[in-house]
Amino acid sequence: LLTIDLDAIAANCQRLRAEAANAEVAAVVKTNAYGLGVAPVAQRLAAHGATTFFVAHPGEGAQLRAIADPQLAKCRVYVLGGLSGEPAAALLDLNLTPVLATRADVEAWTEAARLAGRALPCALHIDTGMNRLGLPIAEAERLAADPSGLGIELVMSHLACADEPAHPMNEAQAAGFAGVRALFPHARASFANSCGIFLGSRYHYDLVRPGMALYGLNPAPGRPNPMKPALRLDAPILQIRQIDKGESVGYGATYRAGGTITAATIGVGYGDGFPRALSNKGWGHLRGCRVPIIGRISMDLLTLDVTGVSPQPRVGEAIELIGPNITAEEVAAAAGTAGYEILTNLGPRYARRYIGARGVL
Ligand SMILES: *Cc1c(COP(=O)(O)O)cnc(C)c1O
Repeated sequence: LLTIDLDAIAANCQRLRAEAANAEVAAVVKTNAYGLGVAPVAQRLAAHGATTFFVAHPGEGAQLRAIADPQLAKCRVYVLGGLSGEPAAALLDLNLTPVLATRADVEAWTEAARLAGRALPCALHIDTGMNRLGLPIAEAERLAADPSGLGIELVMSHLACADEPAHPMNEAQAAGFAGVRALFPHARASFANSCGIFLGSRYHYDLVRPGMALYGLNPAPGRPNPMKPALRLDAPILQIRQIDKGESVGYGATYRAGGTITAATIGVGYGDGFPRALSNKGWGHLRGCRVPIIGRISMDLLTLDVTGVSPQPRVGEAIELIGPNITAEEVAAAAGTAGYEILTNLGPRYARRYIGARGVL
């Protein structure tokens, strides 16, 4: 069972507004709002005053537009992936605004504007050194001189190393982006993701684009997390058994009991997006005790050693896998990945329960 705290997400939005006091806080809700569920998350954020959303693909934009919510319907939705091979009309019909990051998209949107007979709103993504997606600075200079029908309302760039405040890339990209921003005095500017917000006001510009911080991951690595945890993952015990010394648990018999133990099996596995890499490595929490995962994690099930919990746990009792006692970051570190991946892998099989107000405040 996934419990998602919409009040915590709204509080996190508020905390980011305080941190980036002169900027608008947009919400990045790509990948189903990082696995938390785009409809309730976006509705709550819109009710909390968010007016700008970012998704990755036109398909995600279509999903967002399909949510019946008058507040959300008025919001600007930017598509980070631009046209992504879709015809311009597909975005126009859904009132989605592309973030143009390739020469081909610039040309397609310019042509669509010509056909429409009006400047079509768009954002430009300029590459300032990440070398992932984005127009080269020379292309930005060309478009600044001749926007030819593009209604450029936002110019943005993306930081490669915002999670390492001392990394020289941050300064170098900031210098590059200051130059880009100056080319488009009439557009709004956006530079910072969640971690970028915590690099200081020089990084804020007009609009910030947090994702992970809204969902409770730590945007200030190495410092205490300023965000509220927004999610917990618990699963009830399906079966309890005693395992004798020398007996094994799970596929491949990779765990062998060193003595008699009490083992509890729960209905969570890698098929739910819980990392198989945590086999014999991860842990859960039960009544204040840390209970290690034993044996291989299978598709639908995993087993934990609950010997240390007394009195003995009962079938139906919930074991915490992510929550107040285990952060998504800790789970990620043990699995050799990032908190982002733990969240975005939260599978559709989990029942999602939303707490906190959903809509109008
Ligand atoms: C995903 C993404 C964000 C949000 O990043 P977080 O680190 O989750 O805050 C912002 N901008 C762009 C371009 C992105 O791709």
